[in-house]
This record gives sequence, C-alpha cells and structure tokens, in this order.
Amino acid sequence: MSALEIVQLEVGLLQNFCEVIGCPRTGEAALVDPAFEVDRLLRIAHDRGWRVTTILLTHTHDDHVAGLDEAAAATGAVVRCHPVELPVARGLARRVEPVADRERITLGDGRIEALHTPGHTPGCVCWYVHEPAAVITGDVLFVGSCGGVSYAGSDPAAMVQSLQHTLGALPEHTKVYPGHDYGKTPTSTLAWELTHNPALLADTVEAFCTYKRVPVPSLV
Ligand SMILES: [Zn+2]
Ligand SMILES: [Zn+2]
Repeated sequence: MSALEIVQLEVGLLQNFCEVIGCPRTGEAALVDPAFEVDRLLRIAHDRGWRVTTILLTHTHDDHVAGLDEAAAATGAVVRCHPVELPVARGLARRVEPVADRERITLGDGRIEALHTPGHTPGCVCWYVHEPAAVITGDVLFVGSCGGVSYAGSDPAAMVQSLQHTLGALPEHTKVYPGHDYGKTPTSTLAWELTHNPALLADTVEAFCTYKRVPVPSLV
C-alpha cells in the first residue's frame, strides 16, 4: 500500500481541482486548495475515516482559496503556504504558517515536499508527494498548457525556470495533478508533459513568451 492516497475532485464553475490527501494507516489528511464545495471535500475525508490536520495552498488567487475560511474553521487544520502568500491566507484562516522551499511536511506515513515555483504568482508552491510520486501543480502546470503570466506579480522568466528546472527535474513517472481541468485528461504524467506540453517544450524565455503571447521581459 502507498504511504498516501490522493483523491482529486473538480469543484466550482471554473473547473478547479482540489485534492484530499490521506494516510490510510493513520488517517491523517490534508486538503489542497479548498476553493469551492468544501462540504464535498470534507465528505471525502469523512467517508474514509480521515482527519484533516493540514491545508496546503498552491497560491492565494481567489479561485484557490474561496473556501479556505470554511475549511479552516470546520477542521481547525494548520494552513501552509509560501511566505509571500501569507497576508491573504491569514485574512481567511486563524492558523497559517509559512513553508520554506524544499521543506518536507509529514502526513502520517508520507512526506509532501514544498517546491517553490514562482512565475504565475511570486509565491506559487507545487506540492510533491514522494510516495506515490505525484505533484500538485496549481496554476503553474496544466495538462497540455500552463497558467497565465500576465497577473500582478507574474514573471515569465521565473515561470520558465520553475517549469524547466523545478518541475522538469522530477522523476518522469511523477503523476501531475493540475489546478484546473483544462486538459484532455484530469491528470497526466511528467513524461507526457515533457513531450507534449508546449509550455515545457518552450525551453527559453523567448520561446515561452512567444507561446504565451506576452512581451519578452528584456525587451519591455
Ligand atoms: Zn492563479
Ligand atoms: Zn486558478
């Protein structure tokens, strides 16, 4: 049996994905990006006998934290996010703690590692589950595409670095759980993304900006 089980759920009207991650042996569980339909997320945990102790945020755009206040109040869980995303999170939940790049969070018998992946926002974190190998990518990587880089605080060059050197360095069999259901399939593998996703095939800032139809930073 794997150390952790990951359950993906599509919620809301913006094709958002949330995840419930649980340790079947100890029953400890985490929610990722409780955006909408929090009652459905909590029911997944409840039906498995899991107890939600942690809430992990990929970033604090509204479509990823719209249900955070409700989820935090219902569970009393500790919320973890990148330091620059703290102010928004602390406006929604009482127990919020920063997470450092490469910090490993213990959840029952499993480990979930924070990968700082700026570009969409400065504080984006992808959550890398070691066993089974899986990465929850929020709005950084979608199946067959990637998140926008035209928001306040977006940085196309940082996005290329995050995609190529942080996500691209994970084992190829890693299962990809994106933040939105924008692809042909709800999940994929890093191997598939590396060979099919134009956001990963564009391996220079210039090529990436051409793909995203945004100005190349050095020319701005
Ligand atoms: Zn976003
Ligand atoms: Zn989003």
